[in-house]
Amino acid sequence: MSGCILALDQGTTSSRAILFGRDGHPLGVAQQEYEQIYPRPSWVEHDPEAIWSSQLKVAQDVIKQTDIDPADIAALGLTNQRETTILWERDTGKPVANAIVWQSRVTSKICSQLKADGHEDLFRDKTGLVIDAYFSGTKIKHLLDTIDGLRERAERGEILFGTVDSFLIWRLTGGRKHVTDYSNASRTLIYNIHTLDWDDELLELLDIPRAMLPEVIDSSGVVAETEPELFGRPIPIAGIAGDQQAATFGQGCFEVGDAKNTYGTGCFMLLNTGSEAVKSEHGLLTTIGWGIDGQVTYCLEGAIFVAGAVVQWLRDGLKMIESAPDIEPLAGEVPDTGGVMFVPAFTGVGAPHWNQGGRGMILGITRGTTQAHIARAALESMAFQTRDVLDAMTIDSGVTLQTLKVDGGASANNLMLQFQADLLGVPVHRPVVQETTALGAAYLAGLAVGFWNDRKDLLTNWALDQEFQPKLGREDADRMYAQWKNAVTRCFDWEE
Ligand code: ADP
Repeated sequence: MSGCILALDQGTTSSRAILFGRDGHPLGVAQQEYEQIYPRPSWVEHDPEAIWSSQLKVAQDVIKQTDIDPADIAALGLTNQRETTILWERDTGKPVANAIVWQSRVTSKICSQLKADGHEDLFRDKTGLVIDAYFSGTKIKHLLDTIDGLRERAERGEILFGTVDSFLIWRLTGGRKHVTDYSNASRTLIYNIHTLDWDDELLELLDIPRAMLPEVIDSSGVVAETEPELFGRPIPIAGIAGDQQAATFGQGCFEVGDAKNTYGTGCFMLLNTGSEAVKSEHGLLTTIGWGIDGQVTYCLEGAIFVAGAVVQWLRDGLKMIESAPDIEPLAGEVPDTGGVMFVPAFTGVGAPHWNQGGRGMILGITRGTTQAHIARAALESMAFQTRDVLDAMTIDSGVTLQTLKVDGGASANNLMLQFQADLLGVPVHRPVVQETTALGAAYLAGLAVGFWNDRKDLLTNWALDQEFQPKLGREDADRMYAQWKNAVTRCFDWEE
């Protein structure tokens, strides 16, 4: 049996490739950033050729660096920035425009119109999503609407749509496969997560021809082999999942009620709800975690726009610290925030409130307030927002969390995670391997080719780096949380 799995992690700001051994530890990592294109302030694009070339290069680099014989790579798993939309020509494989990135607000007008026309419930019932420029469907419509003759060509089957996974697999297989997996399909706003098919009614509303859509396949299973010349020998592509779903799998959240929270730029919490698609009444998304053998596992998802980004702002905007980790000793200079609350609603408020007009606020400032109090309040804001999402999840799902598994850059912060445990009243677990996104893709691929036997194998790989036990009394925690709820609502609709 060959010795490792190659995971490709195509992210929003960089492409990464990691080789994993059987114990789930990285054997080597290669990473390359690529250009962010901002045609207007709130529009974000990527050059699909840059996505492809950077991803291919890091994959080739990591193999070279580690000196691993490509024959020893048992399979390739792929995870990707979600929702980002690419259209390309079937004949030539050439993109017809830049990729429209998930962050882009270019289709907000289309979304406002769909809401004004009363379609919100229809989309929510079928896709589990809210109508928002975040998702792929309106991005496809925008490209078909604005590029001359494109819709007619798409109807004739000449133009293909894909999220980043789909585009990369097309390229990796030399155009033999036009596919996407369940998890990525569930972020497009045109995929019915109950019937597990593209939805004709939604396609008609957005005027998107079915002929351009990829086949939806399992997240774990051999799709095809890579073109032989890319890595010196064909490698089976055997795992695909969107980044947050991959991290959920990589954290071993296989059972109903298991949840993980990723503290990166923003914060994404996913809760496994098993075979039941739980409809949220409290501002969460219903999404597909993964599909294996045609059976899908659903998740509830809470998306918080600003988490680690608040630390970046203290560093780059206020110049209060030199590097992100400096925030921990600064915040540690004081035992509490001295009554200061920081609501980091820099780009509106996401889950569970969804208030676009919200803007950031620092409240409760007195003559005694210092940088340390503000730093501490900034860290606490990540934990408070997480509690908002978790409380919504508990009500929506009826599941009471036993532990919270965490990852992402800001989860390196012990002070923040201790406060998180205190506030939630459940232990917080940080694993040794923090590359959970790439690891999840590797797991999906490795299971498909028998590199790992089953999920039990994967769970034995999961190792605890540190546990944070709640120490604060529940009354104190609830009192602090009540104050946060008071603070967060005050920022709503600051901008009309
Ligand atoms: P992304 O994948 O969204 O780029 P990462 O998982 O790489 O994010 O995490 C980067 C974020 O974590 C940044 O916003 C940074 O400010 C924050 N961060 C990094 N280290 C720390 C730390 N020690 N304490 C708090 N925040 C941190």
